[in-house]
Amino acid sequence: MSQRIAILPENLTNKIAAGEVVERPASVIKELLENSLDAGASDVQVEISAGGRRLIRVTDNGSGMSREDALLSLERHATSKIRHDTDLDGILTLGFRGEALPSIASVSRFRLASREPGSAEGTEIIVEGGRVRDVKACGMASGTVVTVEQLFFNLPARLKFMRSAETEGAHVADTLTRMALSRPDVSFTCLSDGKELLRVQRGDLQRRLTQLLGKTTAAGLHELPPADGDVRVSGFISGPAAVRSTANAMFTYINGRFVRDRVVQHAVMQAYRGVIDRGRYPVVTLFIELAPGEVDVNVHPTKHEVRFRHQTLVHDAIQAALENVLRSSPWLTHRERPAQPAAPAIAPATSQAYRERIAAAAQKSLGLGYTGTQSAAMPLLAPAPSAPLPQTVREPAETFSAPPLEHAATGYFASMAVIGQFHGEYLLCQSGGELVIIDQHAASERVAFQRLRQQCAAGAVESQRLLFPETLELTFAEAALAQRFRDDLAGLGFDIEPFGGATVMLAAIPRFVPDSNSRQLVRDILEDLAHLGASSAFTDAQEALLARIACHAVIRGHHPLTPVQISALLQSMDETEFAASCPHGRPVYHVITLAELEKIFKRT
Ligand code: ADP
Ligand code: MG
Repeated sequence: MSQRIAILPENLTNKIAAGEVVERPASVIKELLENSLDAGASDVQVEISAGGRRLIRVTDNGSGMSREDALLSLERHATSKIRHDTDLDGILTLGFRGEALPSIASVSRFRLASREPGSAEGTEIIVEGGRVRDVKACGMASGTVVTVEQLFFNLPARLKFMRSAETEGAHVADTLTRMALSRPDVSFTCLSDGKELLRVQRGDLQRRLTQLLGKTTAAGLHELPPADGDVRVSGFISGPAAVRSTANAMFTYINGRFVRDRVVQHAVMQAYRGVIDRGRYPVVTLFIELAPGEVDVNVHPTKHEVRFRHQTLVHDAIQAALENVLRSSPWLTHRERPAQPAAPAIAPATSQAYRERIAAAAQKSLGLGYTGTQSAAMPLLAPAPSAPLPQTVREPAETFSAPPLEHAATGYFASMAVIGQFHGEYLLCQSGGELVIIDQHAASERVAFQRLRQQCAAGAVESQRLLFPETLELTFAEAALAQRFRDDLAGLGFDIEPFGGATVMLAAIPRFVPDSNSRQLVRDILEDLAHLGASSAFTDAQEALLARIACHAVIRGHHPLTPVQISALLQSMDETEFAASCPHGRPVYHVITLAELEKIFKRT
């Protein structure tokens, strides 16, 4: 009998492990930085040349290693970070597998130099393709220096897959950014071919965000309030204006470790539903802290993926934390500004007259009766039935010193003085010392969307039966979709019945949509559904469908509004969460401060 099975020599197993851990220069940097941070370094310097293909050097001022430890650190499965299998349930360090140094050393020309603060000299170890060539004493500052030259020189298959110096350098920059964001208390520098690629000093997270993401992006971020509980979420998130077309600016960390996790990403995107458009991604830097036993980081050698013990709990905690901030639209400056002293009465005379007319009209109609041709057109502008009826016109408290009337709304929008309408599309209002321009279409779309959402959450969207049911000729694919999702569509207020072949009969539509839009709405909805994969659930599309209905429920383009309609719209906006942007993420209004105006007129 011949023996065909053999245990591989360690040099080869290290090379195999390297295949998993070391994909490219950036992965080497990630492993070395993790080691530096685990060693308690407060300053880390990185040097690369040719994007890291020729040289990578990481120098830290951390704990350093004794000669014995330095030698051991190059052995496979040698680590100072865990001892027993039970330690796997409580990992607080970035590393624990004891694989990185031997893996890297097996696929490069490698030099490790390290000195503990208390010892007289350091130790230098030279390794080439996994073979130790030299071990000697050396003079050096305390800390550790790892130098990796000619990565993959002995692994031609991998060498082929390395990209240009620019591309590899960009990956290094990404890795550094992720690490540097997670530890504002550590300073990082990176030289690339002698030029400074990155330099960040120790400071707080806000400063670090400004340094790494740029002033403009950082200024548009909002801090999550401090949290406690089993799953703590902190960090900064963007409003709808700072969206990106990729998820690259979503920096998410679990217990300080950067992860690219499906559950986390889904929770973030759920929170932004209805705030930003589909296919767009926010800028977030999120730190999720939970008991180490609640999360398994030992899923993949690169540790980019994790598994949660209570996945739903984590998901919902993240979503709730973000929604909590997004709901109040913190990107609106007026909410952050400290209360201003009462502004002088500078509302123009027209505004006063205008308000009187609104008052008169409101008395007549009690705020609900839209009369004339526009009644069907903008039914959504009326306050929700549950809301108190507007008894009187709101007194813009910031502008006039008269005490607020009884029942007066204190909402931001309702308390504005309406100056007038511009171009039949924009409302011009005054709030304190600010000129507020409202896009009435975006505003009513947002109001409609939120209301539809509420109805949907409560079980069903209000429906209206068509006076004359309409037949609609569809493609067979569309007719099949209409049939398949018939019950779901009924929940959104549609009654669509088969009528032979690919023809259907439309008997009811959501209440808010004008009859004249019904055919187009149904076609659009079926088209939206067609974009869903065959296996996807209806609920995945629900938000998009609600946005679609909202879009059809409001009037676009030039559209004069009566004073009553304006006042009703403003009040509805106060009752609406996420009021600052339409369901597609476009802004609903824009504020011009008095100071900005004065600048335009060169008065300052
Ligand atoms: P792991 O980080 O998973 O333990 P590594 O192969 O990355 O495995 O490192 C092995 C060991 O070498 C670490 O556990 C640590 O004790 C030591 N070490 C590595 N890098 C440094 C460093 N920069 N400073 C101090 N000790 C280090
Ligand atoms: Mg490590």
